[in-house]
Amino acid sequence: MNRGVPIKKLPFLMMYTVRGCPFSCNFCASNENFGKTVRQRSAESVVAEIEYYKEKYGIKQVLFNDDLLVINKKQIHRFCDLLLERKTDIVWGCFSKG
Ligand code: SF4
Repeated sequence: MNRGVPIKKLPFLMMYTVRGCPFSCNFCASNENFGKTVRQRSAESVVAEIEYYKEKYGIKQVLFNDDLLVINKKQIHRFCDLLLERKTDIVWGCFSKG
């Protein structure tokens, strides 16, 4: 199992798109830092930002550093659909399990 940072291509962009966590794992300070209410950027906004940095800086990968990127399945599916619809050629990774 690879526990390192999953960087496959350079240059890469690290993004945060979700804040807050409703859970209270005793080893984690996420909800103390960001609260228990989940706030998530829209898939449209995230893809637009990726395209901006792709155009401006030639990024080839995005690494989502969010604690709960996949908490909202509808949202992550919308994000994937948008990348395909817009033919946004980008590698992305995250620290979540599906
Ligand atoms: S972010 Fe993950 S580890 Fe932290 S409290 Fe929420 S579910 Fe638990």
